[in-house]
This record gives sequence, C-alpha cells and structure tokens, in this order.
Amino acid sequence: MSHSTEIIAIGTELLLGNVVNTNARDISERLSGLGIGVYYHTVVGDNPDRLRQAVEIACGRADIIITTGGLGPTYDDLTKEILAACFGKELVYHEDIGAEIRAYFEKRLPGVKMTENNLRQAHFPEGCTILRNNFGTAPGCAFFADGKHVIMLPGPPRECRGMFQSGAEPYLSALSDAEIISHNIHIFGLGESAVEERLQGLMQGLQNPTLAPYTKLGEVMLRLTAKAENREEAERLMAPVLRQVQETLGEVIYGIDIDSLEACVLKRLLDHQKTIATAESCTGGLLSKRLTDLPGASAAFLGGVVAYANEVKTDLLGVEAHLIAANGAVSDPVARAMAEGVRTRLGADFGIGITGIAGPGGGTEEKPVGTVFVALATPDKTLVRRLNLGTDRTRIRTLAAHHALDMVRRYLAGLKEPPQ
Ligand code: ATP
Repeated sequence: MSHSTEIIAIGTELLLGNVVNTNARDISERLSGLGIGVYYHTVVGDNPDRLRQAVEIACGRADIIITTGGLGPTYDDLTKEILAACFGKELVYHEDIGAEIRAYFEKRLPGVKMTENNLRQAHFPEGCTILRNNFGTAPGCAFFADGKHVIMLPGPPRECRGMFQSGAEPYLSALSDAEIISHNIHIFGLGESAVEERLQGLMQGLQNPTLAPYTKLGEVMLRLTAKAENREEAERLMAPVLRQVQETLGEVIYGIDIDSLEACVLKRLLDHQKTIATAESCTGGLLSKRLTDLPGASAAFLGGVVAYANEVKTDLLGVEAHLIAANGAVSDPVARAMAEGVRTRLGADFGIGITGIAGPGGGTEEKPVGTVFVALATPDKTLVRRLNLGTDRTRIRTLAAHHALDMVRRYLAGLKEPPQ
C-alpha cells in the first residue's frame, strides 16, 4: 500500500517568521529516501483550536501525520493533549519516563530543582510507542488509530532529526513489506540542467529504481532509489543504473553516499597521508572552517592564514609586493604565491591560495565582481583556476571554497584540471 504523509509543524515562532521550518524539509527529505510520499506541509501556531482543526484536515487527506514541536513542559506545549483528544485517547503517566526525567535533572543540572511541570513530558496517549530523545528531555511517540499513523517529534531541529532517524524511521519502515534503498551520487562541476540533459534518456524511462536530481549551492545530488523485497534485490536493480550514471558523468562525481566535498577531500588526504594548509582572502577562513568541521581533520589540516590585507599577504605568506603592484591582489600570480607561500611556511604537502572579488563593490571591467583565482600548490607544480562566480557574495565565497576542494580532490585522484 502506498502512503501519503502530512507534516504539521507546530509553533507560533514559525508563523511569525522568527524561525524557518527546517524540520519539515529534513523530514520530507528522509521520507522521500524511504519512498514515502509527502503531500502536505502545514504550519500552525501554539493554539489548541487551530491545531485541532489542522489535525482534522490532515486526517481527511493523509494516512501518516507527523507533528513537530510542542512536546516540552510549558503550558503552550499542547501537542500530545490535542492529538490524543483528536483520536479519543487518554493521556497516561509513564513511571519509567518520569524517573528518567528526574535522573536527567539530577545528573545534568545538579542543584537545580526540577519543577513538577517537567513531568508533563512523561504523559503519553494510551497504547502508543514511545520514541526516545537522545538529544533532549522530551520524548516523542507514535500510535495507530482510526486508520492513521501519528508520529510526534520534538521541535528543536537536532532533537527532531535524531528522533526521526532513531525512532520514526524504523516505525515507518515496518509499515512496508518492501525494502527501500537509496544511494546518493554527489556531483561538482556540472549544473543541474547539464546533468539532466546528459541523463535525460536514462531518467525518463526509469520506474524502479528511480533517479531524481536535487541541487544545493554549487552542487547537484542524484538520488537513486529502488524498492524490492530485500536489500540484495534493491542493489541488483540499482547496479546497472549506477554504472550508467558513472559512465555518463565520470569525473564530476566526487562521491557516492558521502557527506560533503570536504569529507571526500579529507578522506583522500588521510588515505594518502598528506597535509594541507590554506591562505584565504575573499573566503575569510571558510575553507578552513569546512575542513575543521570534520572530526579527524587535525591529521591532515595544518593551519590557515586569512590574508585579507596586502601586508598580511606579503608579511605572513611571503607574497612579493611587486607581484601585487603589477597584477593586483586578485590575480593568478598572487593566488599562486599565496598557495606556495602557505605551503612552504607551514610545511604542508599542499597549499591553497584563494583571492577574489566577493562584491558588491570592488569590481572592474577586467575583473568584475565574482572573479576569483584559486591556486593549489603541490610538491611538483602549482595549478590555478580563474573563475567567474556571479554576483552574490555568499555564492561567490561558497563556490570558491568548493573549487579549492575540487582541485585537491582531482589532483589526488590523478585527474587533469577541467578545461577553463
Ligand atoms: P522544548 O522541550 O525545547 O520546548 P518542543 O518539542 O516543545 O521542545 P518547541 O518548544 O515547539 O519544541 O520548539 C523549540 C524550538 O525548536 C523553537 O523555539 C524553534 O527554535 C525550534 N523549532 C521548533 N519547530 C521548528 C521547525 N519546524 N523547524 C525548525 N525549528 C523549529
């Protein structure tokens, strides 16, 4: 049986525009990975009547209802009360959860007296499955009533994501007697329409598995999903399609089922036992941040210099002043000298230099806003990309860091630089 889902995000802060409804996005993304359709997103404030109405409407058009928010201990956290009432259920106190909440306070907040309203979090609709919260105090729950599966998750995004994966996903997977397996194919260096154009014939004819593109700033991800009796059968269905995608797109695929371009680069650096150092101007440390966001980065990332001012480029990186005077700070020779300077001064295997015009001011006819030079200094040569990354500051900075990572990835994989 195919399922249809409505996600109801609860919280007045969402309606006021103070908080973006990222929970609906995160849950939808996971559900599509499970092959479960999401038909509606609803946002409703912390208001009992309007929440009741929203649930009634959802019951008329979906068979899985997932709520987020309103599970906390305060008076406006009404989700369980309203959902239980809508399905004619009583709320029941769970001794074990109450004890866990008391223990949490004693351990994490010694000296702070727990107020009794915290125990509201130990009341649940009768007969439900309790979903543990590994990142906070408010547990969620799931039940089946009147032909509807109801799942309640907490509002804070980390808690919501964590509980979806540990509690809701197993619950939802059990609804289907088929296994739904996905592979995510990550692409950098080709836009969405170019990817679709190259794969058009293949994508159009597919039903099981399916192949769907998703875009993120500067990147494309293809999700290949198959539904079958078991994992082996799903993998067997996907294998020829995966091969065809790899043959068609080739080098622009930087990884399959990997978290990010930086994760791919860090893994390759670690595999090759190589180190890297960065000299960043227009990206202001973004590349260093992305690399050091990853656990284990210290085995490969030695350090970085944010060289915004020309004096920092000359004094800390050894870029010769005449290079800047003759070519401008945003130029091929300066990017090259930054990469080589940081590589030798920090004693790394690879050095990255990034210099560019992130805008909105500072552009010229010869070098408009969005002009960025990214250099990679290696033990045998220095490579430079001249890029034109548009006019949006965030996009320019993000893509400049992407390109730097892509250069390292390609070099370590023995691939040539793409034609400019
Ligand atoms: P708590 O125990 O923290 O009160 P809760 O389940 O009651 O948990 P809410 O009080 O509804 O959650 O929300 C807590 C915070 O989580 C909100 O202030 C908001 O910052 C964030 N949040 C809530 N809903 C969403 C959502 N749909 N998307 C993104 N963030 C959200």
